[in-house]
Parts: sequence; C-alpha cells; structure tokens
Amino acid sequence: MSGRAAITVLGATGSIGLSTLDVIKRNSDRYRVVALTANQDVERLAALSLEHRPRFAVMADEDAAAQLYDRLRRQAPDIEVMSGLDALVRVAGLDDVDCVMAGIVGAAGLLPTLEAARTGKRVLLANKEALVMSGSLFMQQAKAGNAELLPVDSEHNAIFQCMPQGFLPGSGQPEGVVKILLTASGGPFRTTAVDELSGITPEQACSHPNWDMGRKISVDSATMMNKGLEVIEACWLFAVPESMVQVLIHPQSVIHSMVQYRDGSVLAQLGNPDMRTPIAHCLAWPERVDAGVDVLDILKTARLDFEPPDLQRFPCLRLAQEAWRAGGTASAVLNAANEVAVHAFLDGGIDFTEIPRVIESTLARVTPREADSIEVILREDAAARDCAAELIAAGQRRQAHL
Ligand code: NAD
Ligand code: MG
Repeated sequence: MSGRAAITVLGATGSIGLSTLDVIKRNSDRYRVVALTANQDVERLAALSLEHRPRFAVMADEDAAAQLYDRLRRQAPDIEVMSGLDALVRVAGLDDVDCVMAGIVGAAGLLPTLEAARTGKRVLLANKEALVMSGSLFMQQAKAGNAELLPVDSEHNAIFQCMPQGFLPGSGQPEGVVKILLTASGGPFRTTAVDELSGITPEQACSHPNWDMGRKISVDSATMMNKGLEVIEACWLFAVPESMVQVLIHPQSVIHSMVQYRDGSVLAQLGNPDMRTPIAHCLAWPERVDAGVDVLDILKTARLDFEPPDLQRFPCLRLAQEAWRAGGTASAVLNAANEVAVHAFLDGGIDFTEIPRVIESTLARVTPREADSIEVILREDAAARDCAAELIAAGQRRQAHL
C-alpha cells in the first residue's frame, strides 16, 4: 500500500466500528476513511461522518438515509449518502479501498463481507456470523479474490498471533500445530444456579463481566453460543478439525487463546480485554501501531484460572458443535435460529432458557443441505428464521392458554 490505507468501516456505529475509528484516529498518518455504514442510527453516523469525512455514508435503512442526507446536506455536501444492501455491498468492493472492517452484526453482514473478500481486500473479520453461515464459499471467494482475511475476534486474533511465521488464514493447516485452546470467559452466568437461569433479564444478560460489546454478542456470550460460533470460525480460518479445538473457560479474559505445538510448546497471547488491540493488529499487520490500550500489568494479574465448559449449563455450545459436525447448511440454520431467538429474548418474547430450545427444534426441522451457493445459504437462512419464529409464536400461544 502506498500513502494512507483507504478503509471502509461496515457497522461504524457499533462497538467494533467505534473502536476501529478510534484506532484509525490515533493513526491518521497511516489510515483514511472512505466509507462509513450503519443500520438506523442517524445521529451517530452523522457525527462520525462529520468527524472522519468519508466519501460515502451508507444507511441500510432508507428512511434513515433520507434523514442523514438532510443532516449532512449543508455541513458536508461532498459526502455522498446512499441506502440499502446494494450500497453496503458497493462500498465494501470499491476499487480504491484497501481494507474493509466487517463490523456489521449478524447475517446482515454476509453479502458486504463476501464482496470485500471477492474483491481482494484486506478483510478485518469481526462479523463471525458471515463466516459461520457461508464458511466454504467464503474461504473460496477470499482465495479466488486474493483477499487477506485477518481475524478481529479476540480469540482468533490471539491464535493468529501464535501461529507459525508466514501462516495466513486460508493458507491450509498450520505446520506443527496439534491443538487450539479457545478461551471463553464463561459470561455473566458461569456460576449462577441453573434453576435461576430462566428468570434472567436482557439487562443482566447484556452486562458482561469483562467485555463491553453490542447486545446480540453479549447475549451470545451469556449462552456461550458465541463460543460455539467461534469453534466453527476457528475450523474455517485455521483449517483444523473440530477435534483440535478445545474450549476452556478462563474467567479473567487475560489469555485470549493458545496454540499447542507438536514439540510441547504452548504459545499464548495476553492483554487487557479491549478490542482495539486485535483491531490495531489487523489494521497494521505485520507492523504494530498504537491502539490506545494500556499495557497489561502482569503483577496485578494475580491468577489465571481454567476449567472445562459445562455443556448442561451451556447447551448452545453443544448445539454449535453438533451443527458443525452435521455440515452443509446446518451452521447457517444454527446461526439464523440463534439470531431470531436472541432478538425474541431481548424483546421480552421468550425466557433466556428458551433460546437453546428454539435453536435445537429448528435444527431438527430444517434438514441440512450442501452449502454450495449463496442462493442455497440464503434460502436455508430464511427457512430457519421462519421455523424459529413459528416455534416462538407457538410457545407464546401455549403460554397465553395457561
Ligand atoms: P453492535 O450491535 O454494537 O453494532 C452492530 C453494527 O452493525 C452497527 O453499526 C449497526 O448499525 C450495524 N447493523 C446492524 N444491523 C444492520 C443491518 N441490518 N444492516 C446493516 N448494518 C447493520 O455489534 P458489535 O458488538 O460491534 O458486533 C459486530 C460484529 O463483531 C458481530 O458480528 C460480533 O459478533 C463481532 N464481534 C464483536 C466483538 C465486540 O467486542 N463487540 C468482539 C468480537 C466479535
Ligand atoms: Mg470472541
């Protein structure tokens, strides 16, 4: 790259997007923003656009885009405001963009993220759902497009940092590696009595002990579906069988994951839990830049505890492992059912403990197919969403009759 690297930030108003813009601002001699995108948050995207002066500001929602246009018309008429999925895809694939932060949450990020891979960008992958839905296709497109797929998810970023020199996600199975130790905090309910889990409120589920994140991933962390999605993410990125990915509960979130080698070495990456570290690592790789993160005070890190996950308490982790083993579109179905169930929980429509039940029943009803095209993946995603929504509605009708 010559001059400042040109960046599109998909999901600019979210937790990952804001952290990315913070790192970019600290390193404005190296990076410039070409496009910012968001779903509906007009106020925030307007403020970010005025600050970072992108060429394009995109809102997925059409009405929100019209409001954004009104907001920016006088103060920044040079910023082109666009709306809809086509525009998200367009700014992910612009010829003069070097790097795309895939920071949209959920399946909504699939097509723009795939476009960034297809058009050979450096793809900073936060949107794990995109990879979980379309893994094989995604890895093929990244390879064909000559994209650099760099993992932002803190665990996968840690694993990447511990991989043999020269290894890049998508370049095959890493030489000499025998196991990946994927750490998990265990979320806010690691020690809550199992019979109290059904009464958990969305606010409780969203207050993670170590990380400050968007609401969907916070609930995923509380159910440990997040770790299940991350097992699948690791299998795709590092080309390893699921048997090589061991999940470990590590409540302090200081070690972000580890890699075991054939010769007995175990490499770990440590740091304060702040997503700006993996984001800065991916932006600058193979160099290093300031992320604004305090260095870990190792003397204050009094203890590092580890325990195996309890699959009774966290059925979502088991469901994700089973979906991966089932293959094909099963992971896309898992992801879609989870998104629907998590939204229903956040809206007060179902109990916390209903989330895995909805997912398990959806997986039993929507039979996996070969995930060989985007059309098939999107169709199965839609079928799973319909099925999960019906299961939730049926459950609510039963409740109403009681
Ligand atoms: P968030 O909810 O804070 O932000 C989501 C962003 O996506 C927002 O900018 C929102 O406007 C945009 N968005 C939402 N729905 C959209 C739609 N339909 N169309 C277009 N844009 C839409 O989420 P987050 O915590 O920043 O997470 C983003 C992604 O990064 C997720 O896939 C998550 O799993 C992953 N991730 C997040 C963290 C973290 O610490 N937050 C860590 C690891 C991985
Ligand atoms: Mg993670």
